[in-house]
Amino acid sequence: MSRSAHPAGPRHADVLPEGHYSAPPADLNALDEKVWSRTVTRDADGALTVGGIAVARLAEEFGTPAYFLDESDFRARCRAWADAFGPDADVFYAGKAFLSRAVVRWLTEEGLNLDVCSGGELTTALDAGMPAERIAFHGNNKTVAEIERAVGAGVGRIVLDSFQEIVRVAHIAQRHGIRQRVQIRVTVGVEAHTHEFIATAHEDQKFGIALAGGQAAEAVRRALSLDGLDLIGVHSHIGSQIFDMAGFEVSARRVVQLLAEIRDEHGVELPEIDLGGGLGIAYTSDDDPREPHEIAKALSDIVTRECEAAKLRTPRISVEPGRAIVGPTAFTLYEVGTIKPLEGLRTYVSVDGGMSDNIRTALYDAEYSVALVSRTSDAEPMLVRVVGKHCESGDIVVKDAFLPADLAPGDLIAVPATGAYCRSMASNYNHALRPPVVAVRDGEARVIVRRETEEDLLRLDVG
Ligand SMILES: *Cc1c(COP(=O)(O)O)cnc(C)c1O
Repeated sequence: MSRSAHPAGPRHADVLPEGHYSAPPADLNALDEKVWSRTVTRDADGALTVGGIAVARLAEEFGTPAYFLDESDFRARCRAWADAFGPDADVFYAGKAFLSRAVVRWLTEEGLNLDVCSGGELTTALDAGMPAERIAFHGNNKTVAEIERAVGAGVGRIVLDSFQEIVRVAHIAQRHGIRQRVQIRVTVGVEAHTHEFIATAHEDQKFGIALAGGQAAEAVRRALSLDGLDLIGVHSHIGSQIFDMAGFEVSARRVVQLLAEIRDEHGVELPEIDLGGGLGIAYTSDDDPREPHEIAKALSDIVTRECEAAKLRTPRISVEPGRAIVGPTAFTLYEVGTIKPLEGLRTYVSVDGGMSDNIRTALYDAEYSVALVSRTSDAEPMLVRVVGKHCESGDIVVKDAFLPADLAPGDLIAVPATGAYCRSMASNYNHALRPPVVAVRDGEARVIVRRETEEDLLRLDVG
C-alpha cells in the first residue's frame, strides 16, 4: 500500500502500523455480496436493510448488540446443499455452529439432517421436532446419561470416538434391545485450515481413533464383534474454514483404504462414509469460498475414483457443514460508543458488545469485515480496530478495517458473517447479557432467541 493510499482519519502516521489490512476499499459504502447475507442491501436513504427492514428500525425494536439472521438465505443455503449432494448423499447441519428451535424447524422443513454433540443440543433438536432418525450424535466424551437418551430416542447414528465408547454404546443399546447404527470416527493424519493442509499431521489430539498403527482397524474389529452395534461406516473431520479440497482428497483416500482393508479382513463393505464439515466462508472480500455444487462434485469425484481403484462399491457419502450454512446468514449490529484516535497507529472504535458475543477474533485471530450501516458517508477512510466493552485488552471484534472518518458515537455498525460460532460461543463475561438472535424474512422480524436479562443473571446466582 502506498503512502498516498494511506487512510486519512485522525491525521496519522508516517509509518503504517502493522496489520492484516490491505488498501482501503474504493467505496466504503459498497456492500460486498460475498460477506453479507442475500437480502442485505442499502435503501434509498443509504441505510442497510435485511429482509426489507432497515437497521435503524431493527435497532429500535430489538436493541443492540443483536444478531440478525436472514431466514430466507438460511433456507436457500440448506436447499443448495441438499440439491448439490442429491438423494444419494446426506447433508447433516452441524448444530454447534448455531442451534435454536426455529433453526431445527427450518432444517426439518428443508430436508437436512442434524449433528448434535451434547445433551442440550439433542434436547433442542428433539423438542423442535427433528425426527430422531435424522440426528447424528457426536462428541469425544458423551456421558452415559447422554448415550442413554440418544439410544432411547432412536437417533439415526452415534459417531463412536474411542475404544471405551464402543463398549459403552454397545452395552446401552443391548439393554434397550436394539442394534444402534454407529460410525467410527477416525483421525486420518490430515489437518486442514483455510488455505493450507498438512497430510502428515500427527495424531496428538482428543478426537477420533487413529488410522496410524492399526488403531482404527482394531476399533472396527471390536465394533463388528458386538451385538449392540450396527457399524454403517467411517467418519472423518479434518478441520475448519477450509477452501482447499486437497485435504479432503487425502482424507477420502485414507478412509477408502480402510474400507478396502475391512472388506479384505471381514468380507463386509461398509455402506457409508462421512467426510465431516469445515468448508470455508467469506469473512472478508479476500476469501473465495466454493459453491456447494462444486464441493459436492469434488468430493464425489474423489470418493468414486478412490473406490474404483480399490474395487469397492461407492459408499453413500455424508457431509456436515455448519459454518458454510449459517455463517453467512447473519450479521451482528452494534452501536458505536467511544472513539479513540491513537496518533500514528489507528482509531479504536468501541461498541456495545465484544468478546462476549464474538470470541472468535480473540480465540482464533479470526478476521472480519465491518461497515457503517445506519447511513452512508463520503468521508475519507480511517483505519480502525473495533473493540468491545470488556475488561480485557484482547477484546477485539475486528482487528483491522476501514470505516469513514466521520464515524460518530450513536452510529450503527455491523459485522457480517457472524452466524456461526458467535451466539453459540457467547459468554456472560463481565456479566454481559447475551444478545438476541432475530430472524428476518419478507419484511418481518421475530426474536428466535431472546436477549438475556439481568433477572436471568440473578436467577442463576442463588447465593
Ligand atoms: C465442528 C464440526 C463440524 C462443522 O464444522 P464447520 O466448520 O462448522 O463446517 C462438522 N463435523 C464435526 C464432527 C465437527 O466437529
